[in-house]
Amino acid sequence: MKPHDRLYIDGAWRPAVGSDLIEVVNPADEQVIGHVPAASAEDVDSAVRAARRALPDWAATPPAERSARLAALRDVLVARQEEIAETVTAELGSPLKLSQAVHAAVPVAVVGSYAELAATHPFEEKVGNSTVHLEPIGVVGAITPWNYPLHQIVAKAAPALAAGCTIVLKPAEDTPLTAQLFAEAVHEAGVPAGVFNLVTGLGPVAGQALVEHPGVDLVSFTGSTAVGRRIGAVAGGALKKVALELGGKSANVILPSADLARAVNVGVANVMTNSGQTCSAWTRMLVHTDRYEEAVELAATAAAKYGDRIGPVVNARQRDRVRGYIEKGLAEGARLVAGGPEAPRERGYHVSPTVFADVTPEMTIAQEEIFGPVLTVLRYEDEEDALRIANGTVYGLAGAVWAGDEAEAVSFARRMDTGQVDINGGRFNPLAPFGGYKQSGVGRELGAHGLTEYLQTKSLQF
Ligand code: NAP
Ligand code: MG
Repeated sequence: MKPHDRLYIDGAWRPAVGSDLIEVVNPADEQVIGHVPAASAEDVDSAVRAARRALPDWAATPPAERSARLAALRDVLVARQEEIAETVTAELGSPLKLSQAVHAAVPVAVVGSYAELAATHPFEEKVGNSTVHLEPIGVVGAITPWNYPLHQIVAKAAPALAAGCTIVLKPAEDTPLTAQLFAEAVHEAGVPAGVFNLVTGLGPVAGQALVEHPGVDLVSFTGSTAVGRRIGAVAGGALKKVALELGGKSANVILPSADLARAVNVGVANVMTNSGQTCSAWTRMLVHTDRYEEAVELAATAAAKYGDRIGPVVNARQRDRVRGYIEKGLAEGARLVAGGPEAPRERGYHVSPTVFADVTPEMTIAQEEIFGPVLTVLRYEDEEDALRIANGTVYGLAGAVWAGDEAEAVSFARRMDTGQVDINGGRFNPLAPFGGYKQSGVGRELGAHGLTEYLQTKSLQF
């Protein structure tokens, strides 16, 4: 796609007030592929005002019509799937096959699910002598990261549209082109002017202005725990609603009865996909001491097979950060069995698929979110030990349990302090609520639970 040098506000592409620009770089070859405006607080104010003006009509639009707009949006995303995949590959660096199969395809499923939910969700219910109306919360300030650029946008915009909310989106500075493409798609789908607005810009400028704006009723943020904590504090001070999807350090628990090779291979693939830039990645593999060495060998072999085909990480800062963690793992005494801190290629922000063995639960690489292709393999003595290690971080976003028998895996999963667990390699479900326990966040995205985040209740008594 051709980058816009404008912001999408009130149904049209309009120039930013200032002349600051964001350079968009292809992380695979470090070439500049375009520029987009870096919005100021004044631009954010225009966008929020447009969203507020559009709110009463959109909130009053019958759910069936909101559903029709979402269905149209899904159709545009289908028609432009190849362009979406190419755009994500260009600005995120993910291999084209992954962009097609995940980055472009998952949003189609999610928008489709909200086209259906908008039409079928009970926006009105009877409770005794009351009628409870589920009404839109109002203007949503959405702030998204770069790791799944379109999915993260759609996971907020689709339920907000279904609920009857209006939106101002501040996407990640690293992946603004995908966001512009989404704004084009929303326009093409016939969503009324002002209902969806896009301000590309920097987090501490445009992002912060959006969080602080009194015209925003709900801030929905996905990104790092550090920024999320700050946003939560600002929103709390203003008594604004807030939804936070933050970091993770999820455990892949392989119980002794599991099919070890399958559990390890799927576990390695889960971490290396998208170059490890997945908040729900199972970056801690937990293996019983009796099968530990066998698992380490399998993991090292699996990781080495990926070579440099996983694609780069998003930018130079992220590459340096990930390499810093690999150095830290070595310094703390973990045993490197695949990859390492050296760059596998000269050009582009590449990191080798890396596996550490002899990782103990207190090590930095077992506690902090690395957000790169780095797997840690930990040893447990018995099931209680495994549970203690699995639950032993500040995070609780996702996880996996493998066992010979499904019931055994389920009973372990029920004791994990985490929002999502895949049982024996369970498949992604776009309708299942996604979100964190503990410091992994506040609220849920996707499906009916995700829709509820954008609704508030009004009870009428008779
Ligand atoms: P981040 O700084 O939290 O960025 C997420 C979004 O928040 C971006 O749009 C960012 O804008 C914006 N932002 C930054 N500072 C802000 C502020 N003061 N007020 C309002 N908005 C602000 O995350 P990152 O820098 O992209 O990545 C850092 C780490 O976050 C990663 O290494 C990873 O650990 C974690 N992360 C987690 C997820 C997840 O899905 N849970 C996703 C991505 C990253 P800019 O783009 O301009 O910074
Ligand atoms: Mg940032």
